[in-house]
Amino acid sequence: MFTYEYAEPTDQMLLNDILDLDTGMPVDLRTFLTRDLALVMQDRNEMAGRYTRDAQQPWLVCQLCGGAVMLVRTKDRRFHFRHHTAEEGTRGCPISTRGSFSADQINSMKYNAAKESSAHLRLKGIIRDSLVADHTCDEPQVEKVWRGMPVGERATWRKPDVQVEREGQRVAFEVQLSTTFLTEIVGRREFYRANGGAIIWVFQGFNPAETRTAHEDIFYLNNLNVFVVNEETLRRSQEANRMAFDCWYAIPHLKGRLIANEWIMEQVFLDQLTIDPVEQLVFYHDYRSRRTELLATLNSDSMRQAFHDFWTEYGASEEVEAKAVWTSLRDRMRVFNSELRLPKSHWEGPFHGAVSIILSARYGRPIGYRLPRLLDVTNVAFNSYKPYLMPFGWTLNAFEQNGLLLEQDKKGTWAKRRREIRDAIKNDENAFRRNREFDRLFAFLVPEIISNLVS
Ligand SMILES: [Zn+2]
Repeated sequence: MFTYEYAEPTDQMLLNDILDLDTGMPVDLRTFLTRDLALVMQDRNEMAGRYTRDAQQPWLVCQLCGGAVMLVRTKDRRFHFRHHTAEEGTRGCPISTRGSFSADQINSMKYNAAKESSAHLRLKGIIRDSLVADHTCDEPQVEKVWRGMPVGERATWRKPDVQVEREGQRVAFEVQLSTTFLTEIVGRREFYRANGGAIIWVFQGFNPAETRTAHEDIFYLNNLNVFVVNEETLRRSQEANRMAFDCWYAIPHLKGRLIANEWIMEQVFLDQLTIDPVEQLVFYHDYRSRRTELLATLNSDSMRQAFHDFWTEYGASEEVEAKAVWTSLRDRMRVFNSELRLPKSHWEGPFHGAVSIILSARYGRPIGYRLPRLLDVTNVAFNSYKPYLMPFGWTLNAFEQNGLLLEQDKKGTWAKRRREIRDAIKNDENAFRRNREFDRLFAFLVPEIISNLVS
């Protein structure tokens, strides 16, 4: 006969915040208590045993007061946590004096309790030893008070896990394990900002596929850069005499009109990081600038499209409606790029012709003219816009329109003119001398020919 019994939690928990000091992680009570009964019983013994061996090094503690806990089995054979009987009532835990602590005080207590976990101690040691190995850093200090500017009557201070001075810049290191303490994070940022210091939050691991709120609170504020240390980075620090990190950072990509983040892990050194105490940023990859660039591209793409659309629809029209739409487009363009300087009327020459021949070459059909074929536009360009024949030709090449022209050019007129144009340019004939007046506009309209325009 086989029996199989699951442990179960009680309906109501006395203590909801339990911290595992081995890992620095909070215990998920439902998962922990809903397991094979044998395992829960073993853990219950382990907990009690470790406390008995050394009351200063318990395994699971109450996250609010840091006191050791025990697992109690009730009469109906269910489980819940309580403070260890030896510690109940000795630490002023808000659970037994509910209502006399503010949310901030409770957060602060949890934060300090988390700092005593062995994972936390181990990471502090790795940071200290990495800094000792780094020749550009002064002697690191562990858990030393950093005194700040007094605010009003009040003296201010923080006690970072590790701090160091590097080339005149004071840097605090804070280990962040698993639980979220947004008020603590924000409070520290403000303190170091006010005192010209920088802060590097250090994690023991990171997985972009399952980020925790506590991580998000930090990396969204830190230019989407995350720093991890472990025994391996310590080894690299000691080999290179530069403090090493595993840095996870996000690269923004445009997916349609949305921005998606790609996470990359790279091995980096402290001296490669950009430290900005004013913005309270420490980063390897500048996510914000890249994102701004991308958004600007998005804007220029949509402005370019709006211009092309206007010219396709109204380029050949002098109607009132065309003028009104042009005025509105021109206003938007001025906000987007004031250097383009568009004329009051889209019909103004030679502006109208220059734009029309370039966009016709771009699309392989007359744009801005009521003409049947691209070949007809080559006649206009040759007869009236000789100073813009070079950008016209580059655009024809960039969009591979020469085959189409060859097909339309039954009499071979354009082929003959191409040779004529080439010779004239080679001989620097006045009429064919290139006018650069609209180069900036051409670069905006047809970015594919920018390298020709600037060469
Ligand atoms: Zn407690």
